[in-house]
Formats: sequence, C-alpha cells, structure tokens
Amino acid sequence: MVNNPRLDCLKCPSLCCRMAGYVAVSREDIRRLAKHLKMTVPAFEDKHILETTRKGEKRIKPGFKTCQFLTEDRLCGVYEARPNDCRGYVCWNQEDTTVYDYAAFLQVAVPQLRDREKDQKK
Ligand code: SF4
Ligand code: SF4
Repeated sequence: MVNNPRLDCLKCPSLCCRMAGYVAVSREDIRRLAKHLKMTVPAFEDKHILETTRKGEKRIKPGFKTCQFLTEDRLCGVYEARPNDCRGYVCWNQEDTTVYDYAAFLQVAVPQLRDREKDQKK
C-alpha cells in the first residue's frame, strides 16, 4: 500500500468528494441515508442513486464527478450518515495518486482558496 504523508482534510477543498472514483452504497448505507434525509428508501433511490451496475451495485457518485451531497462550503451534506466507502477513504494511501497530488498542492485553508478564486475571476 502507498503511504504518502497525511494531509489535513480541513485545509482541502474536498477533492476526494469532487474527483475520486465512484461511491457505492450498501443497503445499510441507503437505509441510513434515507433516514437521515427523512425520505423513504424507494424515494431516496429514485432521487439519489445515479448509477446501478450490471451486477446491481448502486452508486451515489459516479467516478471522477462531484458528489451530489457536497455542499457549497465543500463539506459533506450527509456527514453523519455518509456511506462506508467515504468513511474509509483517505487520499494518501491510494495507488492512483492523482487526487493526492492535487490535494497536496492545494493544502491551504478554504477561505484562502476562496480568496484566490475570487482574485482569479477579477
Ligand atoms: S482529498 Fe485527501 S486531503 Fe482532501 S479531503 Fe479528501 S482525503 Fe482529505
Ligand atoms: S457522501 Fe459526503 S463524504 Fe461521500 S463523497 Fe459525497 S460529499 Fe463526500
């Protein structure tokens, strides 16, 4: 397993939720998320399952796309109920270092990053 130095997730614009691969959800994840959002399981699946594989794996985030639950503050909008896939993920021990490389480059606090983005738009 690759073991790059750990990064500070609070200084990162949540690149894993924006760039990393798909997020699959188990039945337990779906039940927990639906309850958290005060929805029924079928309503949750209709609205939030974005991909189902041929083998029946259900995904709330397709690979390399921004997760539907990432808020404008770049926080997880369903943090307490987030899927197990998300709980276990850190970018510094992945074989593919694409996300890690960006995250390491962008280790600045989110407010500073916002200022940077504002400056770029001027
Ligand atoms: S990309 Fe890495 S540093 Fe950024 S939030 Fe995800 S795990 Fe943390
Ligand atoms: S569910 Fe939350 S932690 Fe998981 S990818 Fe989406 S925003 Fe990130």
